[in-house]
Parts: sequence; C-alpha cells; structure tokens
Amino acid sequence: MATVLVDSFGRTAVDLRVSLTDRCNLRCTYCMPEEGLQWLAKPQLLTDEEIVRLVRIAVTDLGVSEVRFTGGEPLLRPGLVGIVAECAALEPRPELSLTTNGIGLGRTAAALRDAGLDRVNVSLDTLDPEAFARLTRRHRHSDVLSGMAAAEEAGLTPVKVNTVLMRGVNDQEAPDLLAWCLERGYELRFIEQMPLDAQHGWDRSSMVTAEEILERLATRFTLTPEPAARRGAAPAERWLVDGGPARVGVIASVTRPFCRACDRTRLTADGQVRNCLFAREETDLRTALRDGGSDGEIAALWRTAMWGKKAGAGIDNPDFLQPDRPMSAIGG
Ligand code: SAM
Ligand code: SF4
Repeated sequence: MATVLVDSFGRTAVDLRVSLTDRCNLRCTYCMPEEGLQWLAKPQLLTDEEIVRLVRIAVTDLGVSEVRFTGGEPLLRPGLVGIVAECAALEPRPELSLTTNGIGLGRTAAALRDAGLDRVNVSLDTLDPEAFARLTRRHRHSDVLSGMAAAEEAGLTPVKVNTVLMRGVNDQEAPDLLAWCLERGYELRFIEQMPLDAQHGWDRSSMVTAEEILERLATRFTLTPEPAARRGAAPAERWLVDGGPARVGVIASVTRPFCRACDRTRLTADGQVRNCLFAREETDLRTALRDGGSDGEIAALWRTAMWGKKAGAGIDNPDFLQPDRPMSAIGG
C-alpha cells in the first residue's frame, strides 16, 4: 500500500497546513467581516492531543515533512507551544513553521523557538498605522512590528512577510514595504487577493495582479527572475532584488496559479482534510478519530481524500465557485 499522499495527477503532498483556530484578533477586510461570523463551537474543535495524533500520522505514515500552523490566528490557541513541542519530537522530525499576524509574538517567540519552531511568516500589509487600522479594523500595528522584531531576536529566521495589496488602500506602498523588509533582512512575498473572504466580496477587476505588483516594484528596484529550478513546489515566484542576494516573492494564485506542482494538504481546526484551498469537499477525520479509528484507518481516509485532488483551482475560470468556508476557517 502506498505510504505517501499522492493524487491522481501524480503530485505528492508533503506540506501539511494545520489550522489551529478559526478565530482572530484582527478583522482584515479581505478575510473577515467586521462582525457576524459564526465561530466553530469548542466541541467541534480538535483537542491538542487530537491535532498531535493527526500530525503524527501524517508525518510517520504518510510522508509529510513540513508542518505549518495557521488559522484564524494560531497564537490565540492556548496549547500552541505544547503542540509545537510534541510535533518537534516526531521521527522523522518535520520542519515546523507558523503563519501569524504577529500579535503576541513578543510574548511567545522565545518559547516557540525553544519548543522547536523553525520559522514564522508574519502578515503585514502596510507601514502606516492608520491604514493598518482601516485594513484590519484594529489599532494593533505596533504590536505586529514588535512581534516581528521578537521573532528575529528569537532566531525564528528568516522572518518572512506576507502582504496582500488592495487597490486604493495600500497598493502604492509596495516599494516602501520592500525597502523596509530589505533593511531588516525580512523576506517579503506579495499574495494576490483570492476569493476566500467570508463576505464573498472579492472582485477580479479590482484585484491587484502580480503584473501590477512587479511594475510598481520596478519603479524603484531592478528585479531579476530567480531560475525556475529553484522554485520547486513553492507557490511564490521569486526575483532577486538589485542583483541579490535579497529576494522578493509573488504568489500569483489567481493570474499565474502553480497548481501543477502543489504539494499541500490541509487540516482544518475541526478535523477536516482539504486537498486544496479551493476544494468544495472535505474528508472528516474527526469522526473517525472519535469513533476509535486506528492510525491505519485514518491514514487510509487521508490518502483517499488526496487522491481526489483536482488538477487546478481554476479561480480565473468563468465557472469558478468560491468554497463555502472562508480562508480564516480553512487555514491560510
Ligand atoms: N492570521 C494569520 C495571518 O494573518 O497571517 C494566519 C491566517 S491568514 C488566513 C494567512 C494568510 O492569508 C495571511 O497572510 C493573509 O494575509 C492571507 N489572506 C487572508 N485572506 C486572503 C485573501 N482573500 N486572499 C489572499 N490572501 C489572504
Ligand atoms: Fe485574521 Fe489573518 Fe484573516 Fe487577518 S488574514 S483577519 S489576521 S486570519
């Protein structure tokens, strides 16, 4: 029997995204509405032990070698440090990283590093505290910046920065954001805005495309494409900035999708496997877990879920349908 998560197009998933909560302390306009989002109820959420068991099955039985914790905001999960420590003790030890808005990293970065976390991606869309408050509906800009500094200080490096540009809100800031990251040794990646907001307000025509992002950066920097061979399964296309070694990335999920090389599998906070961010079906591992399923049975369910992965997300196709769950509940 196969021991890896392979799909019918021959792709192998080795990169597991685990959502630890659907809740968040920000309300980014491209992600969540100001209020009214229904949270998962506590009994629906996997416990810390259940998460660690599923990660263990993925790592020891299914060939997963990288685990990224996300959400919602993963730093809101009380048991995060313990989960990281348990996952770091697995054999073979997976690479462990975290995608976070950075709020609270000031307090937790050192403990996370000690527990075995390797790296963080911090989301920062603007250098302007007022624009930040408009974009996230919270006045927490300085907390994000201090969180990033704490991550650097704790050795959770290289600190990567995720930025979503929105037209008329922060798109003019692209070169400033890159200059700011270069000064600090942070690696910046722009992400095209995707139709994954809870409000279903995404509009293709107002999305800032990869091409526009690159045009804006080229007003101040010389960008040289990094050889494709170095990209591997990474969704970001990368450019050397002013001859390198510094780089900038663009994740063009809409205009230049990289589904052909996708190596991801996803687990939601309520124990559902998704074979794609944009999948419209999920496979329930929580019920199997709670009904006393063996590791082998759970691994088999996971393999079947991945086998059915579609060739591509097709966001730019006319018949594209947004998934029911928003990004915050899938795990970005
Ligand atoms: N709360 C954490 C954070 O903000 O980093 C982790 C979860 S968040 C859903 C993960 C990433 O998804 C963030 O970098 C965020 O900017 C990005 N994101 C959220 N909604 C998005 C959307 N509609 N299109 C593109 N990226 C999005
Ligand atoms: Fe929260 Fe991250 Fe969504 Fe912003 S992008 S609302 S920080 S989950």
